[in-house]
Amino acid sequence: MTKDLQIRVSPSVAAQDSKIIHYVASEQALSIMRITGVRILRRSIDARSRTIMVNLLVRVWIDEPVDDTPVIAPVQYQAVKDNAPSAVVVGMGPAGLFAALRLIELGVRPIVLERGKNVKERRVDVARISREGIVDPNSNYCYGEGGAGAYSDGKLYTRSKKRGSIEHILNVFHCHGASRDILIDAHPHIGSDRLPDVIAAMRETIIRCGGEVHFNTLVTRLLLNSTRDTVVGVATASGAEYAGPVILATGHSARDVYRMLHNEGIALEPKGIAVGVRLEHPQQLIDRIQYHTPYGRGQWLPAAEYTFVTQVEGRGVYSFCMCPGGIIVPATSEPGLLVVNGMSPSKRNTHWANSGMVVELHPEDLPARYDAPHDALAMMNYQHDLEALCFEQAGNSQVAGAQRMQDFVEGKESQLIPPSSYPAGVQPSRLDRWMPAPIAGRLQRGFRTFGKAARGFLTNQAIVIGVETRTSSPVRIPRDIASMHHIALRGLYPCGEGAGYAGGIVSSAIDGERCAEALVAKL
Ligand SMILES: Cc1cc2nc3c(=O)[nH]c(=O)nc-3n(C[C@H](O)[C@H](O)[C@H](O)COP(=O)(O)OP(=O)(O)OC[C@H]3O[C@@H](n4cnc5c(N)ncnc54)[C@H](O)[C@@H]3O)c2cc1C
Repeated sequence: MTKDLQIRVSPSVAAQDSKIIHYVASEQALSIMRITGVRILRRSIDARSRTIMVNLLVRVWIDEPVDDTPVIAPVQYQAVKDNAPSAVVVGMGPAGLFAALRLIELGVRPIVLERGKNVKERRVDVARISREGIVDPNSNYCYGEGGAGAYSDGKLYTRSKKRGSIEHILNVFHCHGASRDILIDAHPHIGSDRLPDVIAAMRETIIRCGGEVHFNTLVTRLLLNSTRDTVVGVATASGAEYAGPVILATGHSARDVYRMLHNEGIALEPKGIAVGVRLEHPQQLIDRIQYHTPYGRGQWLPAAEYTFVTQVEGRGVYSFCMCPGGIIVPATSEPGLLVVNGMSPSKRNTHWANSGMVVELHPEDLPARYDAPHDALAMMNYQHDLEALCFEQAGNSQVAGAQRMQDFVEGKESQLIPPSSYPAGVQPSRLDRWMPAPIAGRLQRGFRTFGKAARGFLTNQAIVIGVETRTSSPVRIPRDIASMHHIALRGLYPCGEGAGYAGGIVSSAIDGERCAEALVAKL
């Protein structure tokens, strides 16, 4: 007999199967000898009150051998037929990868074109940004196999409500080597140390099943039919052409792609984003605050997370992409700009906790010179200029400007900056002065609110580092709702975060699958 039970236990019980068995035996008034095994199906931490508890959904085997069959069946990929039709996928981030895998499932051969290098070679270029301040415009934290998702935290939670789709995406990650924990945890994450192998395994599936993957292949042009209402392929920087309907999954950093579309007269829309700073605390301090104890997280609890949100003068101020036990990274995709972001390894075991702290920005908030009412690229241009300003304030380097948190709020200079995880180094800087006043001012007020909500959070032990700007796409490439192709161009499927229809790894992956399905329906 098997039973699925919802239980609420201490972190030490939740971490050990033998203790779960004892707990269940006593709860169910069963002899311990009758329980042959348990498996956790769902796990979430409840840290709202002083006593931290873990909610578990467990499957219990009683008087029968444990069945090892996976709860969710593994995804099977068959090779496409020799004469299968092809589709072009531009970009190999989560959206492009999942689009390609879905095309294979539907019997279509994906031809994947990626401007960057494979995920292993990319590592060298990513390290050079921190070590030498040199940014390769085609191989960095945003570009290359795996896209912006490759050297990320790999947090796999999303605000998307499509439970079935989310489970499927997690299962595909798991089938390519991600831990089974991601199928269980309420806040699953893979970690920047594990993601590259998972991504490489996905590429192997694509190639094994008859797909093509071309690295160092920068798409520079769309090919249109004679009546200019249908995209029939793409051209690359080297002059090569690839024919087929196109899934354009180039992410939110590919400004050259937006400019190319704009110059071709293809309809685009400006989109609101959020900009601000990365905030970094010692992880121990966050553990003490979130777990309500001076002793920190102890042996059984993971590095604590937080989420903050408030409204200041009609705009949201909120924490974004929090990385417990993580590091801050230089995430620009172009030389001459400074952008920060965060990631964390699978164990989340560094000394630091960081998150983006950002302010909502609408096109109408931009200074008049950006001409937001008439220029679809206005928000993107603003984002670019803020990153350029940040680079300039850092003495034209990747050594980021930083200020202690309380000093930032009180408008004071920080003489000394405490050690930071940011590998390119930090230097004192008056972010409160040089950041645009509507952003800095709202962050200051937001931080005061967060400091009241969580005692100890507003502190000079924490630092703010500038700037965080790549939170979502500054442009939308509008789609026809039913067919999912571009509103004016058949054969072009704007996809993932860069199209403005997704934000984060999971929702971009879901969008990749949906675009593939829409494309195949049309074929
Ligand atoms: C450091 C960091 C940490 C992050 N952490 C998380 C996290 O923990 N959880 C989460 O959900 N999200 C996280 N994100 C965001 C997440 O990575 C993105 O939301 C996601 O990758 C978007 O997927 P995408 O496929 O739409 O675009 P991208 O991942 O941006 O992929 C676009 C791809 O297109 C390629 N490309 C661009 N232009 C061209 C061209 N002209 N020709 C050919 N190829 C081109 C790029 O090289 C890139 O590989 C993080 C991002 C960063 C930078």
